Amino acid sequence: MTALPEKILEQRDINTVWKNCLTTIKNNVSAIAFNTWFEPIKPISITNNVIKISVPSNFFVEWIDEHYNSLINKMLSENLGDDAKLIYVISNESVDFSDSENNTVDIDKEDTTNTHFSNDEFIDNRLNSKYTFDNFVKGEGNQLARAAGIAISENPGNTSFNPFFVYGGVGLGKTHLIQAIGNKIIEKFPNKRAIYISADSFTVEFIEAIQSNKINEFARLYKQMDVLIIDDIQFLVGREKTQDLFFQIFNILHQSGKQIILTSDKPPKDLKGLNERLMSRFQWGLSADIQPPDFETRVAILNKKSKSIGIDLPNEIIEYLALNITSNIRELEGCLISLLANHSLNSTEINLDLAKKTVKEISTGKQTNVSIEFITKEVCSFFNIDENSLREKNRKKEIVAARQIAMYLSKKLTKSSLKTIGLHFGGRDHSTVIHAFNTIKKAMITDASLKADVENIQNKIELSTS
Ligand code: ADP
Ligand code: MG
Repeated sequence: MTALPEKILEQRDINTVWKNCLTTIKNNVSAIAFNTWFEPIKPISITNNVIKISVPSNFFVEWIDEHYNSLINKMLSENLGDDAKLIYVISNESVDFSDSENNTVDIDKEDTTNTHFSNDEFIDNRLNSKYTFDNFVKGEGNQLARAAGIAISENPGNTSFNPFFVYGGVGLGKTHLIQAIGNKIIEKFPNKRAIYISADSFTVEFIEAIQSNKINEFARLYKQMDVLIIDDIQFLVGREKTQDLFFQIFNILHQSGKQIILTSDKPPKDLKGLNERLMSRFQWGLSADIQPPDFETRVAILNKKSKSIGIDLPNEIIEYLALNITSNIRELEGCLISLLANHSLNSTEINLDLAKKTVKEISTGKQTNVSIEFITKEVCSFFNIDENSLREKNRKKEIVAARQIAMYLSKKLTKSSLKTIGLHFGGRDHSTVIHAFNTIKKAMITDASLKADVENIQNKIELSTS
């Protein structure tokens, strides 16, 4: 903690600072966008170089983060300097801002964490408080997984569901469910140590630990957990060393009755390339799948989500969306958000026509499910360079360009946060990724050959993953 200058800086008037910030925004966006997204924001406080602002809902944070990330950074650096930070607080009449940890949303999605103290040690549990059982709609497709999840959260480590292995396709609620379990556990048992991490980040951080000679510290963190939640375990396939370490951690925790929760896109037995001993351990407890939601569940999810945003949509529109977006819940939510965005950006009425238009846009511009590693591989093979050079501190012009293109495509084609993308390129930080993204985006306007290269690579990636 940085304690010293707090008092002095606190006296800087937040209203004046925020007014200046808004001037930057105003100069860079349309009047409608300004009124929709920025006017409703209320400044709360400024401490050191951290501004706290209040926004009406989570939807706002997601939208601003997705569409105005670089503008927000520009605003911060112009008005407060490069190390300035913005913290969003979801406004809620009954919330006292002085104690709003759980309503605080950080600008980088994966940084949205709760933290709690246990045994005098500060542990970042990396759980996102937005995922709860309350907002997890029950349906045919997730019945068993949800029920088992609730049982575990009431009695972590003490059910026969250990490990608890949740599997199913993308966007069906695996991450939501396992984080809801984690959140419930720390709410019910504040002394339990829980941690959530994706297998992908786990691997990246393990590699970093090897490079900085900190393997023991890295492993110790996980070995002391009461609840270990690892998402998308399929990313361990083919990563022998990471699997070995994970095997050790798994055994230590399981033997001492600690709860282990895992997800994957396939059942354990289909994880080809995963060590046999891990595969068999994954089957010791309960494996539960999540199936795509049926029509009624899709309607229920749309109703719940739109109410939480604060909009009451007519049944006709809810049903139209539920009939036409059937593959997964992430897409369903994406469609709802685009609908609201179309509505607010163009000031058009929300009606069936707008819903039809939005569904059409969504189904033509589908996002692929591609990994940062795959993107890196394609970029490197296109330019015929070594993949390692993208992770190293190599400043050669062509390497820098390839690295920036790979970052640009990672931001564009994956849902990974800036932080995660940065980690994949030698632990660069999120501002480097934004810079790369903007550089390539701008350069593509003036440099036709660069534009062609980037589009070529993107086409290749999309063809091989569709
Ligand atoms: P997965 O991890 O399986 O790819 P996620 O957990 O990320 O899927 O879910 C995608 C989106 O759908 C998230 O925003 C999540 O909150 C939402 N979602 C998934 N299942 C449900 C559900 N049963 N009720 C409400 N929202 C859900
Ligand atoms: Mg997930």
